[in-house]
Formats: sequence, structure tokens, C-alpha cells
Amino acid sequence: MKKTLFSTIILAISFLIVSCGNNQAAFSEHSNSSNGACMHYYKTNVNKKATCFQSGVTLYTCSKCGDSYEKIVWEEHKITDNKCSVCDALIAENLEFEISDDGKTYSVAGIGKCNSTNIIIPTEYNNMPIVSIGSNAFSKNESLQYITIPDGVKSIQGEAFQNCTSLIGIRIPNSVSSIGSRAFRRCSSLTNIVLPDKIKTVKSELFENCDSLTNVTIPNSVTIIEHSAFDGCNSLTNVTIPNSVTSIGAGAFDGCDSLLRLTIPEGVTSIEANAFRQCDSLTHLSISASVKSIADTSFNYCDSLISIEVADNNSTYHSYQNCLIDTKKKILIRGCQNSTIPTDGSVTSIGAFAFTDCKNLYQITIPDGITSIGAYAFNGSSLNQIVIPNSVTTIGYEIFGTNIVYAYCEATSKPDNWDSYWTWFPDKVYWGSEWEYVDGVPVKK
Ligand SMILES: [Zn+2]
Ligand SMILES: [Zn+2]
Repeated sequence: MKKTLFSTIILAISFLIVSCGNNQAAFSEHSNSSNGACMHYYKTNVNKKATCFQSGVTLYTCSKCGDSYEKIVWEEHKITDNKCSVCDALIAENLEFEISDDGKTYSVAGIGKCNSTNIIIPTEYNNMPIVSIGSNAFSKNESLQYITIPDGVKSIQGEAFQNCTSLIGIRIPNSVSSIGSRAFRRCSSLTNIVLPDKIKTVKSELFENCDSLTNVTIPNSVTIIEHSAFDGCNSLTNVTIPNSVTSIGAGAFDGCDSLLRLTIPEGVTSIEANAFRQCDSLTHLSISASVKSIADTSFNYCDSLISIEVADNNSTYHSYQNCLIDTKKKILIRGCQNSTIPTDGSVTSIGAFAFTDCKNLYQITIPDGITSIGAYAFNGSSLNQIVIPNSVTTIGYEIFGTNIVYAYCEATSKPDNWDSYWTWFPDKVYWGSEWEYVDGVPVKK
């Protein structure tokens, strides 16, 4: 009887049914989220077993559509006599503490004479609660590997663990409601982390250059991801931006070159400069209806993009054949190797950096009606020739960068508003009567 009940519970746990409204996964083939009618059927699989000092990873896969996401999990320490009987971690002694101004609480000020590499911070000192990990408390400690912060701690101050290069795992209780800037910057061994579910802001440079960070859970209490928060996290493959987030700061995910797919969820209104610059592996980009402001450079150097989609009811932007377009301004903000520039007049300008680093872009047609091409628009692409129609009256600086591109121009000479340095190779430019089409291909006469 007991056994049956037990297996029923296990079954219930391992076969979660989640409505599409709570969909954590980015792409669902069979979902119909507008009416919430469709359900995902998530099955769990332990990818990495959790211990009490190092997190494990459980993979959730929908048995209907194959959608999947990962969840970071932990076991509890088993403490007897100030020591965990499973992992041998000690409730740390000899740490340095600092008393608060009101004399009622303590914060951890430093590692003091504690020389363990796997430590559990105590909940009290001198019979008073420990409520904070002070700024720089553990910074530059190169031997600390695992740390458990106890329930009751409310804040982790700026730079608290900066440059803890051996730190693999850190447990943060949900009592923590604020984590300061750069708290985990350059923790180059940190593999994954669950942020507590009360924090409102992922502060600037929080995880900058955490080279080993593959998986991070951002709770849906977060509204702002500040600048450079995940800058240079080049192992980060798994990140779900919750729909509580409204703003993604400048360079927030700059250089996250293991990110494969990205969904900007409903709720986000602004994406700042360079937010996803140089996400070299990013192939699929999906932008929700709520996004109102995307900086020119947000997706610069994302050279693997093959698909760009904007939700239908976005009032500022739309997508067409894998082009991200500012609807009112008629500017093509970002394209990719699979883009076709629309010929219906919905685009009049190709924005600065629009196709920068599209290494697999070998040809593109600039439709008649395009009036301007912004600086660096095709820099780093693989174009080797282009036809520029008469309608193009404005061209910015170095649109091909240093690539050799043969430019066949319908204009008979350089229009006034083409930058003097629009191309590096004026000898590869043919004007009006200097070229003609032969079997549809432009050739020099
Ligand atoms: Zn599904
Ligand atoms: Zn333990």
C-alpha cells in the first residue's frame, strides 16, 4: 500500500503537465498559447545528480513536442555537530564579522582564519543573526570551492565573491533579496547558479567573465537585467529570460557565444546597445510583441543567425523573411544569412550594422526604393558583388568594411550623400554606363 502511494507520488513528480501559459521553453511546436488550451507534458531526466554542496541538473522534455528546459536542483546538507555528515562541510568557524550600525545583526566581512574549501556560513554570531555577506568579503579567494549561505541572509554585497576563481558552487537561499554589482564577476569555475526568487535586479557585471557558467536560473521577480550582467559568459547555453523582465541592459549578454536560441519574452520593452552582441552561436531569435525599443547594435556580430521572428502584434517592429524591421521608420535593423529585403516599400533604409558579420551571406538584392544604407551595413559578410539602385541617395561609412566587393551602381557618379569612404575599393566600383547585365549578371563593359 505504502509502495503504491510512493510510486504514485514519483509518477506525479516525474510527469509534470504544464499549460502553455506557463511555458518555460522557448519554442513549442504544438502550443496554442493564446487560449491556453494546449498542454506540454514534461518528463524529467536527471542529467547531473545533485549533492548537498554541488547542484545537479534535471532536464524536462515535453513528450508531445520535444520542447525541453533544464532545472538546477540541490540536496540538503545533513548537519550534526556543526558538520555535514554527507559532504564533510563545516559550519565555518573563524570567519570575520562586522556588526551592524544598530548593533543587532552581523555581516560576514571576510574569510578570516577559516581555511576550509567547502564552507557553510553559520546563521548566527554572538547570538545575533547574520544577515549579509559584506562587499568583497571573499573576493580574490582562490581556494574556496563550495559555499552555502544560510536562510536568513538578506543581501550579498557588491564584489562579495569577485575573482573567486575556484568557486564551483554557491547556494543562495530565497531570503536573499539583493545581490550587488560584480558579486560573482570572474568566478571562472562557477558552472551554474540559481538566483533567489526575491531579487528585482540582476545587477551590472554580476557574472561578467564567468567562463564556465553554463546554466543560470533567473527568477520571475526580476524586472531589470543591468548592463554587462552576463558579459563574456561564453559557456552560457541555457538561459530563460522570465516575462517579469522589462529591460535588458547594454551589453547584458555581450559575447555569450554558446547561446543557441533566444526568446525575448512578452513583457520586455527595451533592449539596449550591444545587449546580445557577438552571440556567435545564436541561430534563432524570437522577439515578443511588447518590445518597443531595440538599439541598432543589439544583435551585432551574431554571425550564425538563420531565423529572426517578431510576434505578429508588435506595434513597433515586424519581421519579414528573416529581417527585423522598424515598422514606422521603415528601417531594416537586423538581417541574417537567410534574409530577403522586402520589395513592397516596407523598408526604405538598411540600418547601420544591419548585416555585420553575416559570414554566410553571399548575395543580396537591394530593391529599387531603398534610399539609404547605413555605416558598416555589410561589414564582415561574404558578399563579393552588389548592385546599388538609383534610389539609394545616402550611404554611410565603410559599408563593406575591408571586404573586397564589386559595386555596380546605377548612378553615373558618386551622389553627394554617399560617404567619401563608403567603400575601401573605389577601383572595384562601376558607374552607370560602365557596366551592363549579361544573362542577368552585372558585368563590366
Ligand atoms: Zn509540448
Ligand atoms: Zn553537505
